[in-house]
Amino acid sequence: MILTILKYGAPELRAVSKPVNAFDAELEKLSKNMIETMYGAPGIGLAAPQVGVNIRLVTIDLSGGEDPNQLIVICNPEIISSEGEQKIDEGCLSVPDFTDTVARPQKVSIRGVNLKGEEIKHEGDGLLARCFSHEIDHLNGILFVDRLSPLKRTLIRNRIKKLAKAGEW
Ligand SMILES: [Zn+2]
Repeated sequence: MILTILKYGAPELRAVSKPVNAFDAELEKLSKNMIETMYGAPGIGLAAPQVGVNIRLVTIDLSGGEDPNQLIVICNPEIISSEGEQKIDEGCLSVPDFTDTVARPQKVSIRGVNLKGEEIKHEGDGLLARCFSHEIDHLNGILFVDRLSPLKRTLIRNRIKKLAKAGEW
């Protein structure tokens, strides 16, 4: 089932999400729907708060569904190490049609648990590292626009306000 992706302005996107502690059928169903929603968008990463559920669950697939080996579903992810820096244009399904340059670590290692509650680890370089960092930000109520300069952030916020006023957001 395709879920509605919340946009900038929704309070769920600003909450600090709770750790997953029930590894049950409901969690499995949510992750399945998130994967479908991510592929449908299309996007390469989705965090549960973006579909209005404030738990620490993210789905990532750089291949957009082309390569099953690239699908990552992780609960309670945390960054255990990061190094370097990359600056590339970044966007977000919750801030559609806006992109800007965000500084992120070049390499990121994360650990968390899978849908069965078993510990898993992943290492990411480049785009995957960026994705880990971006999705974990979502779990802490942080959006990529928060990582821009205050001026750029204000410009984007004002454009979104205008769109919202016109009923186009
Ligand atoms: Zn995002």
